[in-house]
Order: sequence, then C-alpha cells, then structure tokens
Amino acid sequence: MKSRNIFEWRACIKTAGLALLLTTASVSPAFAEFAGAGLHSSIAPAGDEQNRPIQQNPMKKEKRVAVIIDDFGNGQGGTEEMLSMPIKLTVAIMPFLPTTRSDAELAHKKGYDVIVHMPMEPKQGNPKWLGPGAITANMSDEEVRRKVEEAIDNVPYAIGMNNHMGSKITGDERIMAIVLKVCRERGLFFVDSKTNYHSVVGKLAVNMGMPPVANHIFLDDLHTTSHISKQMKLVEDFAREHDNCVTIGHVGTQGKKTAEVLRSSAADMQGRVTFVGISDLVRDIWGWQPSPILPSNNN
Ligand SMILES: [Zn+2]
Repeated sequence: MKSRNIFEWRACIKTAGLALLLTTASVSPAFAEFAGAGLHSSIAPAGDEQNRPIQQNPMKKEKRVAVIIDDFGNGQGGTEEMLSMPIKLTVAIMPFLPTTRSDAELAHKKGYDVIVHMPMEPKQGNPKWLGPGAITANMSDEEVRRKVEEAIDNVPYAIGMNNHMGSKITGDERIMAIVLKVCRERGLFFVDSKTNYHSVVGKLAVNMGMPPVANHIFLDDLHTTSHISKQMKLVEDFAREHDNCVTIGHVGTQGKKTAEVLRSSAADMQGRVTFVGISDLVRDIWGWQPSPILPSNNN
C-alpha cells in the first residue's frame, strides 16, 4: 500500500508579480513505483563514490540521467546559469510569460530539449498563483483542449510537456485524457512531474500508446546546497540501479544554488552517467516516434 506521506508543501518563487506554488517531494512517488521497492533501497551508502574508478567497459550498459529544469519563462533566479549548463538539459518553459519565447529560442540553440511547463490546478493553493493559461478542474472539455493547444503554440520548439503544480488535475481522468490526446495530436509526449501520488497520467499514457514517462527525484525541494548535492547522489544511485533516472529541478529563488550544484555534480558524475534529454529516453526506452496528425506551427 502506498501510504508514505512524503509530500511537503512549499510556497516559493515570488517574482515580478507572479507567485508560484509548487508541490514537491524529496523523492517522488514514482521512485517507489519505478524501483518496485522501498524508498530507501537506492539511497547512497556512505562509501567514497568519488574514488570509484571510471567505468570504461563499452559492454557495460550506459546509465542515463535526464535533468528537467522547471519554471522558465519569467526570468527567475538561475535562468542564465541553467541556460549555459555544459550538459544536455530539458528546459520546461511556462507559456505566456515575458521570457517564454527567448528562453525557448536560447535553449533550442544550445541543443537542449524544450518542453511546455503546463500550469495545472493543485489540490491546495490559490489557482491565481498558477500563472497565465492554466488548466482548472471546472473547465469544459473544449476549454481544456483550447488551453493545451494555446500553450503548445506559445512555446517554440516544444517537443513535450510536463505539469506545473497540478496535483488536482493529474488525478483527473477526464481532463488528463484530453491533455494527452492533444499532446499526441501535436507529436508531444507528456512527462508526469509526479506532484500527485495518485496521478492517473501513467495509466492513461499506456492506454493511449504514449510513453509513461515520469519524474523520479526532485532536486531542490529544500533550498540548501547540501540537500541538492544529496539528491544528485540519489539520482546517480537510481540511474545505476535502473539504467536511467529522470530528475526535476527549478529556476527560482534557489535557482542559482541548484545550477551551481548541478554543474559541479555533473562534472563529478561524468564517465559514470550520461546526461541526456528527456526525448532521448522516450525514444530509446519506449520507442516513441512523434506522429502528429495536426501540423505543428509552434516554431
Ligand atoms: Zn513548476
């Protein structure tokens, strides 16, 4: 029984008139599901990982890490540092914000994956904090469809989507079925950020022939360097155990700190893991080939 209460709320990121509230957890519910084991099964032992020899055996299966950075589009803390990161990132950009377009263009130019960071109503918190273009539970099917289409059109180069907040909406089958359908029509996959333990997204995605890709570990739910470093070690352990790991960090009040730790941890992890875009995982693991039935006009 999934009874662990590992969620915590944090109010964060107040900039330029936009306040965002994020639901996050140190280790996402997906972690337990994915591992098929207890949450502690992958936690790093106290050994000295840094002294481990770099694996050079080409026969050894590559361990891949996809780092998604959320909340771009509003010039928040760490934006510049993230967009110059020397590893492949996946940049999740909110629609209809001042730097939505410029962030997407720069990220694309750098060779990062761009995805739409779709604002969705949470179980708690004021929907007004979501930012523009959000999906709320009271919307009709047509309204939900229009919101998703408009968001995709607003973020150039988007190849996928994940949810911003959304603990309420990702548990709503009616709404998520529409979201996934529109994504599929436009050739986008959907990454479940796992802000809701009881998300229906994975199940729906499988039923709809889409990759059930989800976040495994949140990087910066606590805003300390030591916590973020610890999470990066968890990411490596998870990847070593399961061959891949999807992790989510944020730009925002802690953004510079997250970027700093990510940069140094990534340098340390080079040779043991490969940093890839989320598109590399959905293509290689689930054989995802975008087959839009509608032309995409977003780039
Ligand atoms: Zn977000």
